[in-house]
This record gives sequence, structure tokens and C-alpha cells, in this order.
Amino acid sequence: MSLIIRVDPVNFKPEDLFPAAEAVKSGKTVAFPTETVYGLGADAFNGEACLKIFKIKNRQPDNPLIVHINSFEQLYSVAREVILEDKLKRVWPGPLTVILKKRPEVPVEVTAGLDTVAVRMPAHLVALKLIELSGTPIAAPSANISGRPSPTSGKTVIEELNGRADVIIDAGDTFFGVESTIVDLTKQPPTLLRPGPFTIDELTSIFGKIEVPPEATGISDFERPLAPGMKYRHYAPEKDLYLLVDNSLLPELVRRIDRKVAFLLTEENYMKVKDLARDNVTFIILGTEYNLYTVARNLFESLRKIDRLDVEFAVIQSFKEEGIGLAIMNRIRKASGRKFIRFYPF
Ligand code: AMP
Ligand code: MG
Repeated sequence: MSLIIRVDPVNFKPEDLFPAAEAVKSGKTVAFPTETVYGLGADAFNGEACLKIFKIKNRQPDNPLIVHINSFEQLYSVAREVILEDKLKRVWPGPLTVILKKRPEVPVEVTAGLDTVAVRMPAHLVALKLIELSGTPIAAPSANISGRPSPTSGKTVIEELNGRADVIIDAGDTFFGVESTIVDLTKQPPTLLRPGPFTIDELTSIFGKIEVPPEATGISDFERPLAPGMKYRHYAPEKDLYLLVDNSLLPELVRRIDRKVAFLLTEENYMKVKDLARDNVTFIILGTEYNLYTVARNLFESLRKIDRLDVEFAVIQSFKEEGIGLAIMNRIRKASGRKFIRFYPF
């Protein structure tokens, strides 16, 4: 059994986190909340401790971790050439991870042997306090078994990692629900590696021109060494998931489909099709078309729900690839293994 610590995400006592900080200091693993998703962390300067993360998650060793910091002092301890510091001061704490040249003290387990390191200062009081009390940066990927959707609630982390992680901090739901944006600052112009809550417009307003390779949308895969790890299947439910490329096909599809199926859609689309369905159809409402942050928040829990329902497979609507919509579509493409429906019958 893991030690489970339940705290309020804002009104918690630092003492509540002491056992978690002690665990980090003694080379153990701690699952903790951030504003994006939950992370599974260990002391970023302890290679052996970080190796435990790979074992617990069944993660491929060439897939590097993100180093979570709570101060610029810690940034200098992991990154060799800190460029654009004035700009980083404007974006942190926040859901943006940057790639910088690494210092030799950062163990190979963290960076998968690369000469760069991914760093982020999370905007979650529990995460920042945990790093402070641990007195070390914390390396962490998402707190799921590799290949599954990232956990966005303490309940899901407990289901996934109880008995595997040494400590689990449950602070309820995360805020954004999708993983941080990753931008490579060692490239000129800075290059987007993973879309996330920090949008391209926001990136451009801070860093100027940003390179957005087509792979960043999830339509095709990155190869080493641009972004190791992104080639792996991610976020996937066990049942088949199909992306509906054209949402205008939804009414016809819902009316004619005769297999047990779940449709994942917005409130607005649900209102359009709910009366057309027979009892072989289950609807999962993701949020509202007018605020795609609601969809981002519910996405991973909804993908997990598919496997618990009595359905053969699931169909998810598509979203405009603007703002947070770019991150949503990237995750959906990966979760579906790029299976899609273009027309009916498919
Ligand atoms: P996760 O937090 O589970 O999404 O995992 C962290 C992700 O950050 C990995 O999958 C990598 O793709 C990315 N990452 C970490 N370090 C680097 C790096 N040095 N260069 C490029 N991408 C990185
Ligand atoms: Mg992950």
C-alpha cells in the first residue's frame, strides 16, 4: 500500500506534506498534483530514484522526464545555458515546459541520455511546496501506467498507482486536464514539441516566432532526437476509439449505427442528436463548444470511462485546432491510434 495524503489544493498545511518530502529526500517516489495532470516524481538528482519511476510506469528508458522546479535558483542547478530568463519569469509558474541544455549533474535516467533537459515550474501550490520542502527539483512524467490516459484526479491516481508509488498526494482534480505545452528553446526559432494549455498565440506573444512542425499536431510522429518518447502510443483506452473527422455526419451516424457504441461530444452536439439514438448508444458529454478548456478538463477521465461502459467501441467528435483545441486534437489523434471515420458507412 502507498501512503496516501489527502489535502485541499489551496488551504493545506505544509506539515501535511512532510512525509512526502521525506520520501523524495530518501530516494522514494511520490505522486503529486500539478495544474495540468498528476505527476509521479522523484529527486531529479538521484538517478536510482528516477529509475523507479520507469519501473512503476513500465516506461521505455528512452523517454525523458520533466524536471519540476520552484525557483530560478533550481533552474540554474539543472540547466547549463539559461536563455530568455526574463521571458521565463513571465510564464512561470505555469503550464509551459522548456527544453534547455542540461548541466552534467542531471543524471542520464532523467534526460534519457540527451544533452538537453525539460524544465517547468508548475502553478500548483501543493507541487511548489513539495519541491520546496524536498529541497531538490523533482523529475516527473505523468502518473499513469505508460500508454494510458494521464490522471487528472487524485482518485484516478490512487486506482492506478496504489501499492506502486511510495506516497500519493490526493488534492482532488487538476485544473487544465492536459499535459503542459513543451517548447524547445535550444532551437532557432523556438520549436513546439507538444501543444498544451499554453497556446501558440501566448507562446508567440512571449517568445516571438515559433516553429510549429506538423508532427506537433499528432498527425504524424516525431522521430529521435527531436522529441523522444512522443513516438509511443499515448492516452489510449483499451477499446477502439475513432475520431469523427466531419461533425456534420454525427446525426446520420447516431441514427444508423446498430452496434453498442459510446459517442464523446459537446453539450451542443448532444442536444442535436440525443433524440435520434436508440438504446445501443451511450453519450459522454465532454464540455461546451464555447469553452474548450471544459473539454480539456474532462477528456482523459472520459477516455477512461469508455473501458468501463458496456460498449464495443467509441467515436469522438473533432474540434477546431485553435488555442487549447490544438492540444485536444493532438491527444485525441494519439488516443485513437489515428483511426478515424470520414464517412458513413465506415
Ligand atoms: P510526460 O510528462 O509523461 O508527458 O513525459 C514528459 C515528456 O517530455 C516526454 O514524453 C518527452 O517527450 C518530453 N521531454 C522530456 N525531456 C525532453 C528533452 N530533453 N527533449 C525533448 N523532449 C523532452
Ligand atoms: Mg505521460
